[in-house]
Amino acid sequence: MTTDGPTLGQLDVSVYTVPTDAPEADGTFAWDATTMVLVQARAAGATGIGWTYAPAACAALIKDLLEPALSGLDVFNIPAAAEAMARAVRNAGRTGACAYAISAVDCALWDLKARVLGLPLHRLLGTVRETVDVYGSGGFTSYDEHRLRSQLEGWSHGQGIPRVKIKIGEDRGRNVARDLARIRQARDAVGPDTSLFVDANGAYTAKQAVRVFDAAAAEGIEWFEEPVSSDHLEGLAQVRRAVSADVAAGEYGTDLFYFARMCSADAVDCLQVDVTRCGGITQWLAASAVAAAAGLQVSGHCAPNLAAAPAAAVPNFRHLEWFHDHVRIEDMFFDGALDPAGGSVRPDDGRPGNGLELREADSRQYRR
Ligand SMILES: [Mg+2]
Repeated sequence: MTTDGPTLGQLDVSVYTVPTDAPEADGTFAWDATTMVLVQARAAGATGIGWTYAPAACAALIKDLLEPALSGLDVFNIPAAAEAMARAVRNAGRTGACAYAISAVDCALWDLKARVLGLPLHRLLGTVRETVDVYGSGGFTSYDEHRLRSQLEGWSHGQGIPRVKIKIGEDRGRNVARDLARIRQARDAVGPDTSLFVDANGAYTAKQAVRVFDAAAAEGIEWFEEPVSSDHLEGLAQVRRAVSADVAAGEYGTDLFYFARMCSADAVDCLQVDVTRCGGITQWLAASAVAAAAGLQVSGHCAPNLAAAPAAAVPNFRHLEWFHDHVRIEDMFFDGALDPAGGSVRPDDGRPGNGLELREADSRQYRR
């Protein structure tokens, strides 16, 4: 048996911008379209795919900085690729958009390796679980009550997902009365047996976040995400000490130092990691180990069809964010997109790699 892999061929990078199905907003941001930068990595007749939800500029970073650094790569040597990419972006700034670009390539390389070997990606990684719990995520502050209720009911009653999350912190925390009303509507929509999560996207101050949590005590919130800015570790720790819900953050993390700082500051009860931002599957596994060393679990942030395989491979994994915006795009773009019925997804043993095939005809209209 040979232990050498084929040499990496071309990296094809394409950018898609998909309008949302309704205006979307959270506590600190509003948007009406989502951009995906998709990488197709080729070797030995196989194509691996990975992506990041990030500015189109990431495509230029991949072509200008990352692809040249991967010239001649043995596609089995993903650690060498990760090292080469980290070095290649030193002067451009390794965190932020460069890390998002690296993430897309790293995910494509893991997928490519699995496909070259004829294995499902989760089997290449090695699994600790066969199914991955998800939670329905959306509940945008821009939704009216009817849209909020119908989305939540679709997850909890339609698909049987026992965990849902809504956005709060509207207008940077200036509309607490509506936040509280929407939390009550959400609880009413899903009933008493569904776990209710909230995400303020950093909109509140620490004391304000605690007051909001206390005012909503009757609704039984179990998860309070980014009550304050995820850069304000002391503020997160302050909220964490004061509320019974688990405090979560980490979705913007792009290096291990970031995750280590967040854990050592006692800022979170569960560390969020985004496989399309943190540096890809390679760094997802490392970030999960950082959390484990702090006695914490990790939760997968967004891009659920890309995160499912590595989620199955991490012992201290809790759940994966089934984010409305991304689910809609991934269902449109890919054959093999996963089904969350019952509250979990099962990476497919019958399909190679991450199990996804790009639908060229359906995605082309969004290409820029
Ligand atoms: Mg969030």
